[in-house]
Amino acid sequence: MVVPELDKACATDWRAASKPLDAQTGFEVTEDFERFNQKYDMFNRAVWDEDVRSDRSRKFFESYFTDLAQFRKVEGFQHRDYALRNAAWYIADFTSDLLETTQDRKEGFLDTYTMFREGASRKTEATAEENSADVKRAGKFLGADAIGICEYDERWVYTHNYSRQKLTDKAMDLPEDLTHVVVIVNEMHHQTIQTVPSALSGAATGQGYSRDIISVLSLTQYIRNLGYRAVASLNDTALSIPLAIQAGLGQYGRHGLLITPEFGPRVRIAKIFTDLPLIPDQPIDFGVTETCNHCRRCSDGCPVKAIPDDAPKFETHDGISHLKGVKKWTINARQCFTFWANQGTDCSICIRVCPYNKDFSKRFNRLLRWMLSNRWRRLALWLDVKLKYGERKTAGWWWRRAADG
Ligand code: SF4
Ligand code: SF4
Repeated sequence: MVVPELDKACATDWRAASKPLDAQTGFEVTEDFERFNQKYDMFNRAVWDEDVRSDRSRKFFESYFTDLAQFRKVEGFQHRDYALRNAAWYIADFTSDLLETTQDRKEGFLDTYTMFREGASRKTEATAEENSADVKRAGKFLGADAIGICEYDERWVYTHNYSRQKLTDKAMDLPEDLTHVVVIVNEMHHQTIQTVPSALSGAATGQGYSRDIISVLSLTQYIRNLGYRAVASLNDTALSIPLAIQAGLGQYGRHGLLITPEFGPRVRIAKIFTDLPLIPDQPIDFGVTETCNHCRRCSDGCPVKAIPDDAPKFETHDGISHLKGVKKWTINARQCFTFWANQGTDCSICIRVCPYNKDFSKRFNRLLRWMLSNRWRRLALWLDVKLKYGERKTAGWWWRRAADG
């Protein structure tokens, strides 16, 4: 592959790229920093880059249309597993397909959502403190499992959107004067993730996104009804993980995912860019970085060794699908996606085996989480293995359990 020259807009002068907040989030950002162009997202490369695009990747995308999926006899990849996975993806797929052919918008994955009513013409007179509390209350009521607020940070906003219709960059249509980001997380179903790798476990991914969409669209309309601008976003427009960390929703894990105190890495993220006056939350530290320094369950468990087992680095693997100028654990997105394409569904093994992937409604699991935050960490990690947390369950187990309620 000829590595395309990065667009000029990526080469913005970022000499002042680091911010005081980075000391709390744990990201070291240097003057080499470059914002990300959505074109180089691995799912988009699977459309335009002949080195990533393959017969397998085409079949992977087609499998989300159930009649084109290649069912197997093996548990977890049968007709009913793909049928449920694709049903769980229905809301996300339906909303992203709605304007694709008529307006070249793939909302939620490549473009922000536009399906809103007019908001109020008069602005609320509430204070930033009142707005922050109300947005969190309203968001929970509208279905979000957790909500945080951070200041708008352009570093994590893509330089361009991408058109899969035209196979070209598109101008970023996010207004530049929005001041805050409301970040939402929704839990992915715990028992379904226990069956990873399986097509069935992909139902937890689709369900997480579908729940995100319901809460993010409703909360966006709420902010618009307060008389302010609000732009709803799922995977499009900006990197969700650094914004979620800045919004105090969790910490960054070795597997490159957000780890929340409530659900560990088992979450999907949505966000709302707004000019509603708000008070940002502070990043949190419940010991994740130190745990990841001792733990290798995700890097050992990854079937294609896409997760680094050493210290954070300024690593960009093939040079274009990763953030430049940020020191962190970076997974090899190409190896990861190739595994997904080869097995015909997404993979969440690194989520399943993570010691933070537990049902924290249980007192003993909360005790283990507390131990992971202090000098009992090594014992907690040993217990995690001894007690067989993170072991794979069969899809048959899941279907029998679902039938029993
Ligand atoms: S999703 Fe699967 S293939 Fe990708 S990094 Fe995680 S364990 Fe590895
Ligand atoms: S599996 Fe271990 S190393 Fe990987 S993210 Fe979870 S705690 Fe960190």
